[in-house]
Amino acid sequence: MKNSNKVYCEFCEEDTNHTTIKEDETININGIEITFNKIKNHCINCNNEIYIESDNIKNVKNANMEYRKKLGLIQVNEINTLLSKYNIGKTTLASLLGWGEITIVRYIEGSTPSKEYSDILKSLDYPITMNSLLEKNKGKITEIAYKKCKKKLNGYLDETSFDNFSDTVLENVAYYFLSKDYEITQLSLQKLLYYAQGFYYALRGNYLFTEDCQAWVHGPVYTAIYPKYKLFGYEPIKSECSYNLSEEKTSVLDGVLKAFGCYNGKILEKFTHSETPWNKARVGKKDDELSNEIISKDSIAKYFTNVVQKYDISNVYDIEGYSSTLKNKIL
Ligand SMILES: [Zn+2]
Repeated sequence: MKNSNKVYCEFCEEDTNHTTIKEDETININGIEITFNKIKNHCINCNNEIYIESDNIKNVKNANMEYRKKLGLIQVNEINTLLSKYNIGKTTLASLLGWGEITIVRYIEGSTPSKEYSDILKSLDYPITMNSLLEKNKGKITEIAYKKCKKKLNGYLDETSFDNFSDTVLENVAYYFLSKDYEITQLSLQKLLYYAQGFYYALRGNYLFTEDCQAWVHGPVYTAIYPKYKLFGYEPIKSECSYNLSEEKTSVLDGVLKAFGCYNGKILEKFTHSETPWNKARVGKKDDELSNEIISKDSIAKYFTNVVQKYDISNVYDIEGYSSTLKNKIL
């Protein structure tokens, strides 16, 4: 396309006419190859590429967007959506998170967040997670900012907590555990979910939920739940939870909590490292090697059916016999 606005060409050393085209270009950012649609301007006289500031800004933005997409990082528009969803300012949210004041401003202007910071921002899409963050750190922001955000949040929380039919059984099992009086971290929650699936199958004859877990370095992880509580890191999860589960299910969960709820995440990690399902899915992997290998439901079902027979577990409170044996083996 010919463009009649004259622009300075450094090769011709004068203002010249130029053509503008859009073309896919592949570049390398931090060792990652990305392809983006680049705006290119060429001088009509010498055909060299000429530099136009406004197009260069668009190109950098586009390249950055593709880079974020490729790494699964949060996009600028998603950050903006988050801010308006909770009626919160960029610097206020940064303060809540304990980040530098202009961190989020910089992300919106185009600098790339680390995977860790990006995952944290993504997790805030869950109103329950955002609410926990707000309540935990409200002392760090003004009362007006707190009230504005809380008002928005209450709207979402009403929808999600009093009518949580759209939440999965897996999510509700997590809510159930978190509603009880135990100190539960992401690390321990993941193991409790795994034991719930195992013992529920062994005692009731069908799966509690359909999701699979993966054999991560620190034990089984349900990735459908993981991002929701990522924000808490290794700290106990604080989350006001209501759940929607039948008593037939919660009775097994009570047994699992009684048997495993008193152990911290690190000990539960050792428990799961001593069991067949995790080990089978880790065959050929080094201790610290990342893996997305699925621990099949079938392997969990077989293992815990066996445990129930071997430890003569006929009701949910007998599960404790198994966890005490694991404890004695490990500690
Ligand atoms: Zn030229």
